[in-house]
Amino acid sequence: MQDGTKATHAGRRPMDYDGVVNPPVMHASTILYPTVEHMHRERSIRAGDAVTYGVHGTETTFALEKAIQSLEGGYRTRLQPSGLVACTLPLLAYASAGDHVLITDSAYGPTRAFCNGMLSRMGIEVEYYDPCIGGDIKNLLRPNTSVVWVESPGSWTFEVQDIPAICAEAHKTGVKVIMDNTWASPLYFKPFQHGVDVSVQAVTKYISGHSDLVMGSVTCTEEAYDTFQQAQTQTGICPSPDDVYLAMRGIRTIHVRLPHHMQSGLQVAEWLSNREEVAEVIHPALPGDPGHELWKRDFIGASSLFAFILKPEYSSPEKQAAMLNHMQLFGMGFSWGGFESLLIPIDPPKLRTATRWPNNGRAAGGVMRIHVGLEDVGDLLNDLEDGFERLRKA
Ligand SMILES: *Cc1c(COP(=O)(O)O)cnc(C)c1O
Repeated sequence: MQDGTKATHAGRRPMDYDGVVNPPVMHASTILYPTVEHMHRERSIRAGDAVTYGVHGTETTFALEKAIQSLEGGYRTRLQPSGLVACTLPLLAYASAGDHVLITDSAYGPTRAFCNGMLSRMGIEVEYYDPCIGGDIKNLLRPNTSVVWVESPGSWTFEVQDIPAICAEAHKTGVKVIMDNTWASPLYFKPFQHGVDVSVQAVTKYISGHSDLVMGSVTCTEEAYDTFQQAQTQTGICPSPDDVYLAMRGIRTIHVRLPHHMQSGLQVAEWLSNREEVAEVIHPALPGDPGHELWKRDFIGASSLFAFILKPEYSSPEKQAAMLNHMQLFGMGFSWGGFESLLIPIDPPKLRTATRWPNNGRAAGGVMRIHVGLEDVGDLLNDLEDGFERLRKA
């Protein structure tokens, strides 16, 4: 089956619910057992494998888990109450006191904060590495390394990582590779075909697609699943059924939304590349981008989140504010992946320790991150054009 069919059908069993197309929204803590024998039998089932208690999932959660799992391509998916929990819980599951973990220097800021805070406090040594390291990751692996964290492309700086090369080296010594796959969504990068053990999605972004909920997912290979499942059970982490239902509405159209995001994103990226005020556009799907060859090799498509660097003479905070404060269509806010366009100033060097940024010859100057939504592209370009006018005059 192709992705569009999986997105629309996976996790649905209408005939089990009187023909109703969508699974019911089950609000549940207690699950009643008809007999003592049932009770004993159900209690011996691995948590998450059957409806036994609200925390361990219901038909509602299982339906969305199935849909995400079928698109990501792993063995099992478990839902999390936010994308950040989907990042932190696998680290807790696979790293123990005394271990060493390798985290890409391009990792999502709050993932970094968790590694520097709670993970370090628990006696796990955190080391950041150059996202462009590829197979040379082997030089950083130690006997006590348990996890290599990858995020490709990074959600501020968009370096594309050589995931197959990193996985090949990590697997030689049984190290788990966990990937934050949020940028590509499960449609445009297939983590398990490239060797990843655990794939993380901020469902908040393109899967939900409507900027009205926070959720995450963790998808594992069969080999990696039990350890993760135990961490999920022991921490009691679970999402709300109403949010799961909303996210399920999102995933049913992701294969229609994503190509539109991609096309509009590329149009805006090309337009920005020709602007006098812009030094560089950072978008892996643009030929000439440092990550372009790897992106072409491994990715099926591109989402519409990217960045651009202003020339130094157009970079003052006053000039940027003149542009950003009066945008008509582009909103200024965190998160992304919804139907609406966003534009924010970002400061990537602040989040670096293992590498310097800008690197790869990238120009220095103000950096803006853009998310291109589902509006008409002509209208978006007019909004940007007016913004650049204000920036020039400021
Ligand atoms: C947003 C985001 C997350 C976290 O998702 P939340 O639901 O906001 O907690 C994780 N990784 C990446 C790359 C993100 O952009």
